[in-house]
Amino acid sequence: MPEPEAHGAARQVDVAIVGGGLVGASLALALAGTARSVLLIEGVAPDSSAQPSFDERTTALGNASRRIFQRLGVWDELAREAAPIRTIHISEAGRFGSARLRAVEQGVEAFGHVIPNRVIGAALWRALQRAGGVTLRVPARVTAVKTDNDGASLTVLDATGAQEVIEARLLVAADGAESLVRTAAGIAAEVEDYAQVAITAAVSTDRPHDGTAYERFTPAGPVAVLPLHGGGYGTVWACAPQRASELLALDEADYLAALQERFGWRVGRFVKVGRRASYPLRLSRAAETVGPRTVLVGNAAQGLHPIAGQGFNLGLRDAALLAESIAGAQGDPGAGQLLRAYAEARAADRTGVVRFTDSLVKLFASSLPGASLVRNLGLVLFDLSPPAKRALARVSLGFGGPAPRLARDLPLT
Ligand SMILES: Cc1cc2nc3c(=O)[nH]c(=O)nc-3n(C[C@H](O)[C@H](O)[C@H](O)COP(=O)(O)OP(=O)(O)OC[C@H]3O[C@@H](n4cnc5c(N)ncnc54)[C@H](O)[C@@H]3O)c2cc1C
Repeated sequence: MPEPEAHGAARQVDVAIVGGGLVGASLALALAGTARSVLLIEGVAPDSSAQPSFDERTTALGNASRRIFQRLGVWDELAREAAPIRTIHISEAGRFGSARLRAVEQGVEAFGHVIPNRVIGAALWRALQRAGGVTLRVPARVTAVKTDNDGASLTVLDATGAQEVIEARLLVAADGAESLVRTAAGIAAEVEDYAQVAITAAVSTDRPHDGTAYERFTPAGPVAVLPLHGGGYGTVWACAPQRASELLALDEADYLAALQERFGWRVGRFVKVGRRASYPLRLSRAAETVGPRTVLVGNAAQGLHPIAGQGFNLGLRDAALLAESIAGAQGDPGAGQLLRAYAEARAADRTGVVRFTDSLVKLFASSLPGASLVRNLGLVLFDLSPPAKRALARVSLGFGGPAPRLARDLPLT
């Protein structure tokens, strides 16, 4: 990868994006060809092993996200390392109900694609460097922010210790769930700890996969087993924090045995596991997604449990609609009216995805009498009911509100 630019000319810009993770880098790329001057500030180099967004995780990308990436010109590169999800299998440990959804029965080729995060990150940053038009500050951190009705002012500290002040007409917080920009803008976030930790790891099995993604609910948390390009699976195992510490301390053989015991034998024998990483799981929800001269996107606006693989897909739709609003507007990109219209247009999708994900976590974690029966009957009925299956298939396409133009395979403006 070419060296990211460390310094450029921008002191006053139309749009400053803080955070060049999955969502911020996607937004910057969407704005790269527009007339707006754009600055992207990211604290960790995209090819660094410490990059928190482009790490060893895999992301299940829905079809709307695929179309957005096609329009951004990165899909061909991603497709080379993407595994299509042709079937989704949902079950509950120790119970009779299970459901199987086949893409072909829903009239789509695949429900989505599983791609390693580092592949997405590398493709986005390469495309940003190719496209030009966006000034990149990386590695550099935003350390302070001031906003008022006229504009935003940011203090940026680079790796050499040099400090710079930048003025922007619009400040975008794409700096993740612990967003400094959100705090500086005085926007509160409601945080609910699920008391679960997700352990992620790539695993190999003794037989090839057939493009099925598995979601297995267990009383302690769900286990997702997602097919990978080239064979094997990406696994996400959510469990209680204490159990997660024990699992992380196990050697390879004992970890594989524990995973096998939890997940069962549907994909054959687990024979090898890659590096394990862990993520505490919580729901964080900003009280507002816009403030004076400020807009929050991706995890800075809402951080979700990965149970339904929706966090990045939702954040990418934030980025696509924001890019469309900025590119389509005449004049000031940080005008209050533009930001309010953006927030209103995103509200239904955001609320729908947050509620859907949170209810799924709680339904399957519930030990209330009867809850298990409801879940099992739900899965059996679901398996028999074409409308219910169609409703779930739509989940991967976005939840209401106007779909961004890029997601509909239209140009940005
Ligand atoms: C285990 C797990 C599995 C998941 N699987 C899926 C899935 O299958 N499908 C899906 O859609 N979603 C999934 N998600 C959710 C998805 O990973 C997140 O929604 C996504 O990472 C959000 O991206 P982001 O760019 O908003 O934030 P982040 O990924 O948190 O990136 C924020 C970026 O901002 C930078 N930054 C922070 N502060 C500053 C600062 N002050 N100055 C400069 N830079 C800064 C950071 O270095 C980072 O690069 C999963 C999440 C987890 C935990």
